[in-house]
Amino acid sequence: MPELPEVETTLRGIEPHLLNQRVARVIVRDRRLRWPVPAEVSRAEGQKFVSLQRRGKYLLLKLQQGALLIHLGMSGSLRILPHPDSHQKHDHFDIEMQNGVCLRFNDPRRFGAFLWLDGEMQSHELLRELGPEPLSADFTAGYLYRCSRARQVAIKNFIMNGHIVVGVGNIYASEALFMAGIHPQRAAGRISRQRYESLVGAIRDVLERAIRRGGTTLRDFVNSDGAPGYFAQELLVYDRAGSDCFQCGATIAHKVIGQRSSYYCPVCQR
Ligand SMILES: [Zn+2]
Repeated sequence: MPELPEVETTLRGIEPHLLNQRVARVIVRDRRLRWPVPAEVSRAEGQKFVSLQRRGKYLLLKLQQGALLIHLGMSGSLRILPHPDSHQKHDHFDIEMQNGVCLRFNDPRRFGAFLWLDGEMQSHELLRELGPEPLSADFTAGYLYRCSRARQVAIKNFIMNGHIVVGVGNIYASEALFMAGIHPQRAAGRISRQRYESLVGAIRDVLERAIRRGGTTLRDFVNSDGAPGYFAQELLVYDRAGSDCFQCGATIAHKVIGQRSSYYCPVCQR
């Protein structure tokens, strides 16, 4: 599933091909995505892209008036076609620029989204309740400490809650908690401010490393036959149940927490 680093890499990959380009046509072949694709997406036609942004896992393609919102869902991918050829199965929509370049969306499972936003984007119902971006200055130990007081919820579920902070998926949560030495089931309200300092640093570090690795796949956005591959991670604990901890040699444990597979070192993480 595309996570924040893949979405950020997608943004950086498509941005140079869209920015300041004028839309010629929006072609929707299948409206049955996560929500029906509204007819309003054609309001992009004749307009220029003025900025591209990411908010959580949403891509916001701002036009002179209004914006297109794209979510990759479970299996979606975008690619740039300088000379669009015939479409394949699951190529659900195209955005064709006046210079002939085409942005094409493919999504076998159709959990992705393609919507039209009017007016103030941040007040849209999908965006207004999102927590801060993990790589922004708003995401601090003090913020997590304040939000977590008196909360009994397991820290892993707490940092995966998009109202608290966006974009910390299951793999990144497991890895960051290991790096910070925090047991994934510890109550969020019983973690000190100092340990939240370590956790914020670890979340930033794990996401930034994944984005850096994604940078090497950028050319896959042009002319690629398939979806850009999701990043091979050098994982410390995730999916390593039964293996030795790289730090202390103890056996990595696996437990389902909040219905998600969780991996941790029972010695290093308290
Ligand atoms: Zn260990």
